[in-house]
Amino acid sequence: MSYPHLLMSSDPHDRIGVRRKDDAWLTQRWADATTRVLVVAGTRVRPVDGRIEWVEPAQAPDGVRVLLGERDGRAWFAVVTDGDVARGNPEWLPLRALLPALSSGPATGQPAEAPLVLHALGLAEWLFVTRHCPRCGGALEARAAGHELTCTQCGKTQFPRTDPAVIMVVADGEPGSAEERCLLGRQSIWPEGRFSTLAGFCEPGETLEDAVRREVAEEVGVVVGDVEYFGNQPWPLPASLMLGFVGRAVSTDITVDADEIEDARWFTRAEMREQAEAGTLVLPGGVSISRSLIEHWYGGPLPGQW
Ligand SMILES: [Zn+2]
Repeated sequence: MSYPHLLMSSDPHDRIGVRRKDDAWLTQRWADATTRVLVVAGTRVRPVDGRIEWVEPAQAPDGVRVLLGERDGRAWFAVVTDGDVARGNPEWLPLRALLPALSSGPATGQPAEAPLVLHALGLAEWLFVTRHCPRCGGALEARAAGHELTCTQCGKTQFPRTDPAVIMVVADGEPGSAEERCLLGRQSIWPEGRFSTLAGFCEPGETLEDAVRREVAEEVGVVVGDVEYFGNQPWPLPASLMLGFVGRAVSTDITVDADEIEDARWFTRAEMREQAEAGTLVLPGGVSISRSLIEHWYGGPLPGQW
C-alpha cells in the first residue's frame, strides 16, 4: 500500500552540500537565468494564486542566500529576509498553512516542490531563532550558503538542528486478528471525534524505543514492550523529524494524564471503520505520518480526515 505522508518527501532535490562553500560556483549559478529562488520573509512565503512562487535571481531581494540544491537541471535557492514585509500581512503564510498545497504536487502532475520548501522553511526557522552565539552571546554570520552560523567574536559555529520526535500506534492482541486493537488519543483542544496517534519528543540520552515506551506510559498509562520502526517524516514545524513506530502493549488499562491527553481509547479494525464511516471518529489528514501509521495498522485506506 502507498503511504500518503511520503508524498511530502517524493522527488527530493540533490542538496549538493559540497558546493555550499564554493563561492565561484554559487556566483555562477546565481547569474544563471534558469535558477529559481524562493523568497522567505522571516519564516513565511507568499503564494500566488495558491501556488508557491519561484522567481529568477534578478527579482530576489537581499537577504541570506541559501543553496537548496539542484533538480530538473536547475539550481534552486532561497533568500531569507527579515520578517518585516510579512508582519501583519495575511498573504504571507507559514509552513503549516502551505501543507495542503504542497502535498498536492505529485497528484496533480505539478513539480513536487515540497522537499525544496521544507528545506527552505526549516532552515529559515533555524535562522530566525538563532540570533546570538550560545557560548559568548556574540553576533552570528551565515556561512555555507545559509547552513552554518559562525560567531564573529569566538568563532564557534552553529549547525541547523533537527529535533527527533516519536509518533506511534500501540497495538494489543494477536496481530492481524479481528480482536486486535489499536490505541488512539485526543487532546481537549481538538474538535469532537478527532483522534490520533500518541507522540512526543525524544529526551537527551534516550533511545527512540524508550522514548516511545515513556511517552505512552506518561500520556495514557499503558505499558509498551516490543517497538518496531515504521518510517519517518521531516516536519520542520519548526524543527522536528517525526519517527514513526508500532508498539505492542503489555498492559491495556488506560489512565490519561489529563494534561496533554483528554481521552484515549482502544479500537478494533471493525470499530475504526464503522466510526470513521459514521464520522464519529475523525482521523488525521493525509499528509501526516500519523495517518500513514494508522492505515498501516488497519491494513488499508480509511474514510474521512481532519
Ligand atoms: Zn561566540
